[in-house]
Amino acid sequence: MTERQPLVAANWKMNGNRAAVEALLHGFRQGLPDSGVEVLVCPPFIHIPLAAELLAGSGIGLGAQTLSEYGDGAYTGEISAQMLNDYGCRYVIIGHSERRHILGESNETVGKKFRQARENGLQAILCLGERLEEREADMTEQVLSEQLDAVIAAAGMASLRDAVIAYEPVWAIGTGKTATPEQAQAAHSFIRLQTARHDDRIADELRILYGGSVTAGNAAALFAMADVDGGLIGGASLKVNEFLAICRAAA
Ligand code: PEP
Repeated sequence: MTERQPLVAANWKMNGNRAAVEALLHGFRQGLPDSGVEVLVCPPFIHIPLAAELLAGSGIGLGAQTLSEYGDGAYTGEISAQMLNDYGCRYVIIGHSERRHILGESNETVGKKFRQARENGLQAILCLGERLEEREADMTEQVLSEQLDAVIAAAGMASLRDAVIAYEPVWAIGTGKTATPEQAQAAHSFIRLQTARHDDRIADELRILYGGSVTAGNAAALFAMADVDGGLIGGASLKVNEFLAICRAAA
């Protein structure tokens, strides 16, 4: 079995001004554990150049929260994979539930975005997760399969090599209701088995993060599960000490 390096990614969503970016990144640089965990920050697009400057030489990676499904061209308001590369982003979050359920991104659009990211050398963090009514109707596995299959159909199984998946149950995001470690493990192991049906090796190496109300208090128990390879952190990544404690729990 492959040893998978834990990854903790901060998703700042649409939060923060220049001063907040400076304060957060200064704090992260000062307090991060030396090794063991890969750490990544995903600011809003407009703060990416500033974050790139402040993170230079730190070992902390930079990512975006989404990207256009198209390459450079006449798409007013969009940001391309090529632009993200140019500004030093190595990662991009794709298919976050807020984009799926508030901004209307379909499985098909998520697949196209994933392909754009991979064709342009970006490491994609693909978010999958069920809504509360889907969990209650015992449809969690069906939803996860459909979301994953759409990406495999659009971009091919090989595109999942070195990619990252984040299991983010929608009912746990920003609600303070975290999945139990056992619920997270069951979903992560299902996702790994689904990918193993196509390619054992890719499945074994795939890092699967948990996201949904992770805090300094619950991180260690979640990260202790066999198929939980780190976290995608929203609210808690806007607090220096809380985020650093989560990173230490993954190291
Ligand atoms: C997220 O936005 O990906 C997330 C997991 O948010 P929170 O940690 O605030 O639940």
